[in-house]
Amino acid sequence: MTTLYCAICERRFEPDTDHVEIDAEHVRMDDRNEIDDYVMHTRCWLNLTEGWVDPA
Ligand SMILES: [Zn+2]
Repeated sequence: MTTLYCAICERRFEPDTDHVEIDAEHVRMDDRNEIDDYVMHTRCWLNLTEGWVDPA
């Protein structure tokens, strides 16, 4: 089993625990789109996104 590293606090965790995975897609008009993958603790994600607004 692979160990994952939280993108926020950099602590590692097991993939079979609660966590959040995000694909950060770089949308480019004149180049190919690109995706960065990140994983993080659910708690870290909630702290990070607190106050974020839905785009639509
Ligand atoms: Zn974390």
